[in-house]
Amino acid sequence: MSVNVEQVSTKNITVAKFGGTSVADYQAMLRCADIIKKNTTNRLVVVSASAGVTNHLVRLSQAGVSSTEREQIITNIADIQFAITKNFTSQENINNEISALLTSLRGFAEQQAKQHTTKNSDEILSFGEQFSSRIFAQVLQTVGVNGHYFDARQVMKTDNLYGKAQVDLTQLAANAKALLLPLLTEQVIVTQGFIGSDQQGNTTTLGRGGSDYSAALLAEAIEASNLSIWTDVVGIFTTDPRITDQARSINEISFGEAAEMATFGAKILHPATLIPAMRQDIPVFVGSSKEPDAGGTRIQREVESNPTYRSIALRREQTLVTVKSPQMLHASGFLAKVFTVLAKHQLSVDLITTSEISVAMTFDNPHGSTQALLTKAVVEELEQLCEVSVEHGLSLIAVIGNKIHGTKGVGSSIFDKVNDFNIRMICHGASNHNLCFLVPEADANQVVERLHATLFTS
Ligand code: ADP
Ligand code: ASP
Ligand code: MG
Repeated sequence: MSVNVEQVSTKNITVAKFGGTSVADYQAMLRCADIIKKNTTNRLVVVSASAGVTNHLVRLSQAGVSSTEREQIITNIADIQFAITKNFTSQENINNEISALLTSLRGFAEQQAKQHTTKNSDEILSFGEQFSSRIFAQVLQTVGVNGHYFDARQVMKTDNLYGKAQVDLTQLAANAKALLLPLLTEQVIVTQGFIGSDQQGNTTTLGRGGSDYSAALLAEAIEASNLSIWTDVVGIFTTDPRITDQARSINEISFGEAAEMATFGAKILHPATLIPAMRQDIPVFVGSSKEPDAGGTRIQREVESNPTYRSIALRREQTLVTVKSPQMLHASGFLAKVFTVLAKHQLSVDLITTSEISVAMTFDNPHGSTQALLTKAVVEELEQLCEVSVEHGLSLIAVIGNKIHGTKGVGSSIFDKVNDFNIRMICHGASNHNLCFLVPEADANQVVERLHATLFTS
């Protein structure tokens, strides 16, 4: 098929992001290519790695992987990628590119087995998006769209906090305007989510699920008119549809509410996604690449309805730390010392409650995460200041909506129906948009289901 080289203005650009399941195989990629083709404002495409690939890479990046397992993982990844490229009529060039990348990946993995570094981990983790972006550019060409690969590391400059790199917004804006924007008049550019490079040019990553955030940052940098997040569900639901089949898609939601949902664990969006969109006031659409005509969720500054209850988010694997010190009684400076330790280890606290002599705090502590975690070293350092107790196996539930702190009866509406569960650390009042609490992990789904039935279906 011939490729259509259409000139468009850079004044009205949509950044389209496709998640892992959307680019999992050839048929899925074709559906995404069709979405791009149908709307010519879609000029900048940000892709995740094909489903499953980043998980393989995470394992590959860990210490203690044997050479047999290493080869098996690389074979599994190669199988996923070549199963896509075998559908192309012209395969030689793309297969050579994939093979060259696999050789380079093997090199990093061997180096990692000799000496494990977080810098090397990020090199390894970045390969999923490197594969999928090259392949998707060719899928676009197959359907007659002038799609070209672009290396996001040229523009997405970050610090060297490997695994959770912070983006330099000034450099990103300047680079994107100089290197990326001019290409968009004639080409549809396909680039990688999740990855960037530090000031020395080493590869960095922005944290798991970071492709949404990359897409939003790029949309902000090129001053795009819209951002579309194409995933495997028809928008943002009232709660995770995997927890209850009663969950339903939300037509529109404000930036503030959606940002709270993302922060409190709704996996549909990376927690930081809405920050760039809010700064630049870019409306965000969330829809399903499997059913692009089935509607979705519009996230924007102003929305028509602002209900008290909009959704329920759930975040698993929370750790509760209680620090206790009799010296805290009438003393100032204790909390500052505790937070200095946490800041030094780049840990951020989610919920916090205090009593006269103790402070309870929760941390997001997901197993296998590439992010800063509450380690033994942090606990030992805190123990030099005070008594410390650590509890695992908890989930954080957030009820999200509007004017929650100024509405009568919220407490009883929420807690009356779940009074047979052990609810802890209720945090209410810090934000107008949420009320949060902890429950034992084993009860989390049931509590969400029950609350959903109470707040949304009755
Ligand atoms: P992608 O690979 O496209 O980034 P993710 O798996 O990261 O997709 O996010 C989509 C998933 O998020 C959905 O399949 C769904 O299970 C989960 N999810 C969690 N909370 C919500 C919610 N409130 N609404 C919709 N999906 C949700
Ligand atoms: N591929 C990365 C991950 O699985 C980033 C993303 O998909 O958003 O975490
Ligand atoms: Mg995601």
